[in-house]
Parts: sequence; C-alpha cells; structure tokens
Amino acid sequence: MVRFEIKDRDAAGRLGVLKTEHGSITTPALLPVINPNKMLIEAEEMKKRFGAEIVITNSYIIYKKNSLREKALADGVHSLLGFDGTIMTDSGTFQSYVYNDIDVDPLEIVDFQREIGSDIGTILDVFTTPDTGYQQAEKQMMLTVERAKKSVTRKGDMLLACTVQGGIFPELRTKCAQQLSRIDADVYPIGGVVPLMENQVYDILTNSIVAAKKGLNPSKPVHLFGAGHPLVFPLAVALGCDLVDSAAYAKYAADGRMIFPWGTEKLDELSELPCSCPVCSGFTAKELRGLDEMERIKNIALHNLYVSFAEMQRIRDAIRKGKLWELVEQKAGYNPALFDALRVLENEDNKEWLERFEPVSKPSALVYTGVHTVHRPLIYRYQKRLLERYRPRESKRVVVVPEVSKPYSRFYKKDFEMLDCDVVVDSVIGPVPLMLDEMYPVAQSVFPRDIDEESREFAKKVMDSFLEKYGLETGGGEKNADRDVDLERIASVVDMQFGGGAADVLLDGKIVVKKSKKTGKIRNVFVDGKHILSLRAHDGLFTLKTSGAKRLHRSFSSPRLRVVITDECKPFIMEGKSVFARFVVDCDPDLRPFDECLIVSEDDDLLGVGRTLLNREEMLSFDYGVAVKTREGVKE
Ligand SMILES: [Zn+2]
Repeated sequence: MVRFEIKDRDAAGRLGVLKTEHGSITTPALLPVINPNKMLIEAEEMKKRFGAEIVITNSYIIYKKNSLREKALADGVHSLLGFDGTIMTDSGTFQSYVYNDIDVDPLEIVDFQREIGSDIGTILDVFTTPDTGYQQAEKQMMLTVERAKKSVTRKGDMLLACTVQGGIFPELRTKCAQQLSRIDADVYPIGGVVPLMENQVYDILTNSIVAAKKGLNPSKPVHLFGAGHPLVFPLAVALGCDLVDSAAYAKYAADGRMIFPWGTEKLDELSELPCSCPVCSGFTAKELRGLDEMERIKNIALHNLYVSFAEMQRIRDAIRKGKLWELVEQKAGYNPALFDALRVLENEDNKEWLERFEPVSKPSALVYTGVHTVHRPLIYRYQKRLLERYRPRESKRVVVVPEVSKPYSRFYKKDFEMLDCDVVVDSVIGPVPLMLDEMYPVAQSVFPRDIDEESREFAKKVMDSFLEKYGLETGGGEKNADRDVDLERIASVVDMQFGGGAADVLLDGKIVVKKSKKTGKIRNVFVDGKHILSLRAHDGLFTLKTSGAKRLHRSFSSPRLRVVITDECKPFIMEGKSVFARFVVDCDPDLRPFDECLIVSEDDDLLGVGRTLLNREEMLSFDYGVAVKTREGVKE
C-alpha cells in the first residue's frame, strides 16, 4: 500500500510526502524522463544537480532491447540507470499511441516491471486520443479498467499506477476514476492528455483533470502524464496533481528550443539568454549556438531542467505561503490559452468542488491578478457563507457605502457606531458588513483602486442577492449611540466561522473583551469568567478555547463541527496528541482544511479541540498522516 500524506496545502494542491522502498519524495514533484537507450543526462546527475528524488523510465524500451532487458533482470532497474532514488516505470502505452501498436501482453509488462524492481510500475492502459468518439472512448476506458483489475493481482511489493482514461468526456473520466478507486492501486496517472497539452487545449485538459479528481480516492497521489512544460505545472498542481514528468527537456533541446517559465524560445532567435541558470551564466547565446551539436543539446537540456525544477520549487513555496492561485493566474498572462482553463474553473460545479479543498485561511494576502481573481474558491466561500450565515440587524436597514482604503471600519467609524443599521461596503469581493472587515480574506486582500468592469458586474450581482436574501432596505437608519460594536463584531465573525447560531451559544453570559494595548484590537473573549475565544491578529479569525469548545459541543448535535475518532486513541488526544487520519470515523462535511474543530469519541465525548488539516472525504480516505492538529486535550 502506498504511503502518502499531506503536510501542507493550497487550492486543491497538496504539499505531501510519498514514501517508497528507495526513499521519501516531497510532492508536488517533477520526474525527469530517463531514456534507457541514450541517457542525455544520467539519472545520478539529476539527483546531484537538481535534487531529483524520483525519475521515470520506460519499461517497454528496456523490455524490447535484449542487452537492457538482461541487465535489468539480472541487476535491477536501479543498477541499470545507476540511480538509488525512487524509479517509476511507464509501460509502453505512449509508444502504442505513437506507433499505433506494440507487442507485449498487458500482464507480462506488469510482471516485467515487478521483476526489474521498479518502485512504481504502470499498467498498460489504452490511450484514448482526443478525437475519439464517446462510444469508442467508453469501450477503451472499460478495457483499461479491466486491465487494471487484473494487473493489481500481479504487483507484489511494487506500487502500481493505474491510469485514468476516458478521452475528452468528463463523465467517462469520473466513471473511470471511481472504478479504479475501488481496486488496490497506489498511484493514479491521468493519461491521454499529451495531445491536449501539445495543442494547448487547456480547457479540455482542465475538465479532464477535474473530472478525474472528482472520482478518485483523494488519499492517493495523482500523476499528470506528459505535463512537461512549467507553464502548466501550477495549474496541474492547483487541481491536485502531485507528480508531473518531463521528457520535454530533452525533446525540446534536440531541436534547439529553450524552456522558460513563460513559454518556449528558439535558441536561434535569441540574441541574449534571459536566464541566470548555471548554463546561461556560463555562455552567451552566440557561444551556446557555437557549441558542437551534442554539447549544445546537452547544455540546452540542462537549462531546460534548471528552469523546470526551479518552477516546481516556486510552486512548493507558493503552497506554503498560500499563493498558488496567484501563480496559476499569472501563467494565463503569459499564454492566453490558459485563460480558457481558468474559465472552466468559474463553472458553479467546479467552484463548489474546489471550495471543499480550499484552506479557510492562508499565511499571505489574496492578491488580484485579473478578471479571474473574483472567482477564486476563497471569495466564492465568503459570498456563500454571507448568504447562509449572516444575521442582519432587526431594523433590516442597511447603508451601502463605497469601497475605501482598509480597514473600512476606521474610515466609516462614525456611521458604524452611530447608526441603527448595518453599514455594508460595496466591495469587489461582495458586500462587506463593517463587522466582518477584519476577517480573512476581507482585510487580507489586495485589489487595484480601479477594478475591471467584469469583476464589478459580478460584485453587483452578489450585492443584489445579499439584499434580496435578507430583505434589506437601503438608506436611512436612525441614530443610536448604544451599539456595542465589539460584541457585534465578535458575534458576526463567530457565525461566519462556526455557522449560524454559534454566536448565541458562545456568547451567552457575562462577556468581557480583552484588547491589545498596542493595536486596540480584540484579542480574547471571556464569558462568565471563562476564556472562550482568541482572535488571531493575522487573519481576524477565532481560535477556539476548551471552554468555548464545551459550549459548542453541548449545544450543537453530532456531527456538527466534529471529528469523530476511534476509542483506541482517546487517551492520546486527551493528552493533546494530534489525530491521525486512520483513526477518524466520521467528520462534519462542512469542515474545511484549517478549520477549528471539536475532537470527539464515538460516544460523542469531547476529547479535544484542534485545527483540521484535511476535509471529510480526505480524513475518511487517508491511512497515513495527520488529519487534525490537536491544540488542547480535554481531560474531564
Ligand atoms: Zn538557463
């Protein structure tokens, strides 16, 4: 069984660790393709220069050539490639697509991969081309599933990758993914997509990935087959692909093409090298052109790899910082074909899917890059929660005011404190009642002063739904000097964060609010002498204290806000140890990554309070890694 766990995350992307017999791989990872026939750059050099923890090679090529086959069978594929890290092998599916036919039995090639000691072997699936019609694509997909079912019985200790096919039809992709998730596979590649990437049909590519992901077991790593260009890496990772491979570095080098983060350039057309990798630092464009052919190809290949590996590092860094969407959208600025991909993600179904995986808070601000930004899952969630969880004042009157510099409540302080109505800012992310103006992502977002027309229109629609939903009338408002603005602010954020009714439960009693002496901002909330909540300065959301957790636990019935664990690990949680995914029995389907949660036993005893790392479907699927980081155990 595959050992894969999530350590950090952003968008639907995962920063994970995948363990094999030959080491640990930090994902998302780039797998350089090693051609066993001619190693342009040795696998060992991939490790030394680029820190490659995993490479991929083709078992069919090894199988077909006597000398390679015999050596691989005698000494193993690691010895053949001279690499002691993890080796994944492909099966010949792509060759069958390129040459139309190959002569190997689907089970024989799985046996062969196992015999040569591949860490991750791949089934011989049926490559469905984008121009294949529905019925044929369905037939091929079913044949792939059949082969996968037979192949898993032959895998032994080898991890087995079972490829999702289905052509350009999302329903077939999802169906294939669901069927493959029921068998004992370890890695799920998404196949048949190379022609889509070669022709830059990124909308269909996006649909294919999303449809596959919707049907796949979320605890298994997903490999996007043939995603060789850094332009598509951020998109692939943001949609939940954990592995990508690159043969492009060598293929492009062979015809003098250099890979850059923004696209591809021909060496012949460059007067300067717009790159500072070790290759480009050592040559001028003219000098590089002047090298003899083999040297030139090798150097371009090295440059292509430096750029590709650097891009993967940038993506992992973006996940840690919560900046992955920015990276995805920036790529669309380089290549408009990627705009089509972003449009696909604006579809309501896809937004709803993405929202389930999106963290509730991030270490950095949400930064606008263009018309797509307002469709990000974080903003979608804010708008949705506002329409579900907001409680308007009894007067049902609001004053809608224009967006100003942040924090809004400072600018509109007088209106906020003096009027007996809600003051709502007409913001580009939707209506922002002043009491919500410090919570993530309202305060922590950066937009230009002059917003594009399309985003404006979109915001207007959300404002209209908001006013209509709550039956609010705009304008007016009596003066009322008795408002407790702090209390209103706490109650509103609590309802947005923990759901409707949470404020009534948490704030019932004598309330004392402690503020920071330095900033004057709310820090801690005590009710009847007990510490209930702490407000986090960086994201304006609450951390739940044990006394607060007890109140929510008493008043809300299971499974609301809960992560239910098996009784065997009860004592560990009470001591404050984290919850491992394999002990989770159930979970509130409304909990999202990085949400505050109650940890309870199967009898619904409160054992602790913590912060989720996974959502429900992940908690129930993963056998490895942490599901909830426990903050405090509850001993009595
Ligand atoms: Zn370079």
